[in-house]
Amino acid sequence: MKYVIIGAGAAGVTASKTIRELGSNNEIVILSTDDAIHSRCMLGSYISGERDEKGLSFIPDGFFEDANIRWLGGATVKSVDTENRNVIFNGGSEAYERLLIATGSNNVVPPLKGLREASNVFGLRHLTDAKAIRKHAANTENIVIIGAGLVGLNAAYALVAMGKKPVVVEALDSIIPFNLDKRAASAYLERFEQAGCVFRLGCKVVEVSLDESNAVTSMTFDNGERISCELVISATSTRPAIDFLANSNVACSGGITVDKYLATNIDGVYAAGDATALSGIWPNAMKQGSVAAKNMCGFPTAYVDAFSLKNTVNFFGLQSLSVGITEPAEGDTVEILEDRKNYMKTILRNGTVAGAIIQGDISNSGIWQYLVKNKLDISGINKPVRKLSFADFFGVEANGEYKWS
Ligand SMILES: Cc1cc2nc3c(=O)[nH]c(=O)nc-3n(C[C@H](O)[C@H](O)[C@H](O)COP(=O)(O)OP(=O)(O)OC[C@H]3O[C@@H](n4cnc5c(N)ncnc54)[C@H](O)[C@@H]3O)c2cc1C
Repeated sequence: MKYVIIGAGAAGVTASKTIRELGSNNEIVILSTDDAIHSRCMLGSYISGERDEKGLSFIPDGFFEDANIRWLGGATVKSVDTENRNVIFNGGSEAYERLLIATGSNNVVPPLKGLREASNVFGLRHLTDAKAIRKHAANTENIVIIGAGLVGLNAAYALVAMGKKPVVVEALDSIIPFNLDKRAASAYLERFEQAGCVFRLGCKVVEVSLDESNAVTSMTFDNGERISCELVISATSTRPAIDFLANSNVACSGGITVDKYLATNIDGVYAAGDATALSGIWPNAMKQGSVAAKNMCGFPTAYVDAFSLKNTVNFFGLQSLSVGITEPAEGDTVEILEDRKNYMKTILRNGTVAGAIIQGDISNSGIWQYLVKNKLDISGINKPVRKLSFADFFGVEANGEYKWS
């Protein structure tokens, strides 16, 4: 059996590791555009200079050699011929018997006239992006970040560490809007502003001006404001990196369509990680890589833990965790507990915890993930929600054994 994996990120590398852990000595080939193994989560620390390229790697030195895995870095897959079980890439082709597609996602620059083609506009997804941002940022003070989600703020955090004062433009009226409520986000807003970041919230870029070398020189916002800029970081959205499947018969709908075994519609072809659009976070990509590998090796394993509604945020040493929804709907009950250093919000719906935000001390927060994920009915527990602990969900069986109740 020969395994070919496209993508050397969280999902692809984990899959290769899992295949070996299952005792298989069969041939494994990994193809990736990346020519250096790196964690996307740490790209900000490369921009700021806190880590060098080697410090971004998430595998030990010699990992591929020790595991007898053939990794072809700099190999971009152009198409997959599923009839002949062949992968075609820029340097040749590779036959497979089992194929895993774990190509992650790509940044999408908003379709604003001139912005996509401009020479000084970058996303923040790959090491090549981080290198370009670091290089350009070293020579300019006029930097605009479009999007105040986690990726945009990762860039902002790195730039303020470089002594820059980037302007962050966000169409919504709060930062980190998909992960935190306004109250929790405001704690970060304050810290970013103190560090020199300038925010334009509830504001959209409506026009860009380019010079003769096709570089953006200024931007106009929908409030009429116009600012100079020499570097733009676009962090508004991403899309699964699956364009090379366009002429294949692998079914895609947003991301690659998979069943619960992470198998695609084509026999022997599996998909994992951000390319499936099932989730967009590192731990889930790893888990999917591992599950797909088990199925590829003939150990049927369902991907059941598709719980993607958990996010952690950590800037300036302030930690937050959000699980489930962050804003209540009509009929929900909200409980808030806060002091100078901590903030906790729980949203209750029909006797269950539909969402929680914990900021400050996030230790012991596993209970909230457990409650949200399992939709446990807590209405029978006679205790304030904030005081719940795992102990409240243990029952003692007749034989003395502890069991989740
Ligand atoms: C700036 C930033 C910060 C983040 N922070 C966090 C965080 O704090 N916590 C968290 O959980 N998640 C975070 N994420 C998200 C996390 O990095 C992703 O969910 C995770 O990397 C997805 O893993 P993956 O294996 O699916 O894809 P990736 O890690 O993106 O790997 C994709 C691989 O596919 C390769 N590839 C793509 N197209 C081709 C092709 N055509 N041919 C060959 N190879 C190809 C790439 O070269 C790469 O090796 C962050 C992401 C970014 C960009």
